[in-house]
Amino acid sequence: MALYLVATPIGNLEDITLRALRTLREVPLIAAEDTRSARVLLRHYGITTPVTSYHDVNKRSKLPALLAKLREGDLALISEAGTPGINDPGYELVVAAAAEGIAVVPVPGPSAPLAALTVSGLPADRFVYEGFLPRKSGERRRALRALASEPRTIVVLEAPHRLRESLTDVLAELGNRAIAVCRELTKLHEEVFRGDVVGALAHFTAPRGEFVLVLGGAPTAQEAAPIDALIAAGLAAGTPPARLAAEIASVSGARRRDVYRAMLARDGGTSDREKKIATDPTENPSQIR
Ligand code: SAM
Repeated sequence: MALYLVATPIGNLEDITLRALRTLREVPLIAAEDTRSARVLLRHYGITTPVTSYHDVNKRSKLPALLAKLREGDLALISEAGTPGINDPGYELVVAAAAEGIAVVPVPGPSAPLAALTVSGLPADRFVYEGFLPRKSGERRRALRALASEPRTIVVLEAPHRLRESLTDVLAELGNRAIAVCRELTKLHEEVFRGDVVGALAHFTAPRGEFVLVLGGAPTAQEAAPIDALIAAGLAAGTPPARLAAEIASVSGARRRDVYRAMLARDGGTSDREKKIATDPTENPSQIR
């Protein structure tokens, strides 16, 4: 008896492993998050295994029946697309099956967050996955703020109708970071935008399709060090502080407000220029994002 967690395509129906197809063909029953998309996939591959629904709404009420099936024979779990359990049903069933000593077997394959990470052009050896960002802006900004000093690459999912709001919140909380916006991966309109958050906002004016965002991590102390050098050079050259902060923010990805604070903090703010920054009401950091 085994519970097979079978990954299915995130778009292109060819993205399925031979083992996934054999498993789906051989098990007596498939539990599917979305029975319609499951039938499309199974019909495409001539698989006639019976399908039962297992989704967010019935995942608790259906658990005893699926466990009973698992005591008699194998069961495959598939989600609407990608890997079960990753922002899709699966967790509760895995816990319950494992608790009964039933083998839980991965049949790995596509997953949208990993596909996006690998094509993002951002460091992929260490990363954090945050699932969907909160829907409401206040909560979303709090969640992003909590990630502000996260040095690892950050992967999040976003719905098309919230993409621009979320990018705006990313800009406000994390600064103009490097970003890859991955749209409709493996599908006809696949697109990978690589650039910064300001560029992504300019590019995605009317977003459509499915999205994964991959954000560059916060610069480490070592990487941030050049900011001090840029501040020193800019102030020595007489660049107005507001302009300097904007320029350094755009080249470094740091927030303008943070660059400004770093200016104020330098040498205890003793130079003439720094006194001007500290006292000039037009240079008030609280007005700078
Ligand atoms: N378990 C799935 C997986 O492993 O890929 C993820 C499920 S999550 C509910 C679905 C979200 O993943 C979508 O709303 C979208 O943000 C993202 N997504 C799914 N397919 C995608 C694709 N082909 N291209 C880009 N993003 C995709």
